[in-house]
Amino acid sequence: MTIIEGLKNEFPLIKADVSLREYSTFRIGGNAKFLLKVSDKKELKRIIEKANNINLPFLVIGGGSNILFSSKGYDGIIIVYKQDKLINSIVNKNNIINVDANIPLSVLISETKLLSGLEWAVGIPGTLAGAINGNAGAFGESISDIIKSVNVLELKKGKLIEKKYNKDDCHFSYRNSVFKNNNNLIILSAEIQMNSGNKEEIEKRIRGNLNKRSLKQPKGFSVGSIFKNGNDFSAGLLIEKAGLKGMKIGDAKISEEHANFIINLGNASSDDVLNLIKIIKKEVKEKFSIDLEEEIKIFN
Ligand SMILES: Cc1cc2nc3c(=O)[nH]c(=O)nc-3n(C[C@H](O)[C@H](O)[C@H](O)COP(=O)(O)OP(=O)(O)OC[C@H]3O[C@@H](n4cnc5c(N)ncnc54)[C@H](O)[C@@H]3O)c2cc1C
Repeated sequence: MTIIEGLKNEFPLIKADVSLREYSTFRIGGNAKFLLKVSDKKELKRIIEKANNINLPFLVIGGGSNILFSSKGYDGIIIVYKQDKLINSIVNKNNIINVDANIPLSVLISETKLLSGLEWAVGIPGTLAGAINGNAGAFGESISDIIKSVNVLELKKGKLIEKKYNKDDCHFSYRNSVFKNNNNLIILSAEIQMNSGNKEEIEKRIRGNLNKRSLKQPKGFSVGSIFKNGNDFSAGLLIEKAGLKGMKIGDAKISEEHANFIINLGNASSDDVLNLIKIIKKEVKEKFSIDLEEEIKIFN
């Protein structure tokens, strides 16, 4: 029996040789050897157990809005943990919500409009898990502000265990967490602390943030900001001052609207983007003596 036949017996929906372009908002990526979309925690655990047992490399993703896949593809299984409806969620009397982390932030916001805490996140694509992984944020707030705990599946020395990470265990910092550089920590669900608030005021803040975003956010295929800002610099401004706005390699272009965005004009390869990143880092270092650090996850 081939690997795919074996996998198909247990996971009928698994696919082989799947283009990753459709699974990243960058629309860049070669083929994944295997890909499985899972919508619940049980199925997620089952496939990770299986991949682990047969030594198949795996990567769990959500909305793919912060990822650059390699145009050479991925030699393992991509597991897409995403569910478009809020299924498992419990709100307790202290406004703490226990929710599966595969839910898109947009759905979470629309389902919790009677509560305050996520107004800043409107317009950020992707899932709650992706946001926790990279400590996503905007307008001076971030997901770590409202996380109480995260339920994690941890693969350690070949063994899978489920563990609760309290907020302190998550080591959140600016666009970073304990999860960001460890693909063996899989985020299953989270407890988030919302606050009671006035529905009209919450909706007004959401509309205001959406307006601000639509004024400055470039259109086109992207993965958001490529580089982290510093305490005393904006990466976009440095790139702009270095005269790099509009620079193009292949179909990858530094946005004219916001220099911290790279836009795929249609057929950019991962190398096109990586070469632009290399030039940006070199020029910014030479001109301003600042080392820019990538915010996005690069799987090359
Ligand atoms: C137009 C645009 C605007 C954006 N604006 C912002 C912004 O204002 N602020 C901001 O912070 N970001 C922004 N982003 C980036 C991105 O949307 C966020 O980082 C988002 O939270 C990523 O979520 P995702 O589900 O798409 O993650 P993915 O891209 O799927 O994954 C990101 C990382 O998380 C890991 N991951 C995903 N799911 C899990 C899981 N269940 N367990 C463990 N690891 C997991 C992946 O392996 C990967 O390493 C923007 C992106 C775009 C395209």
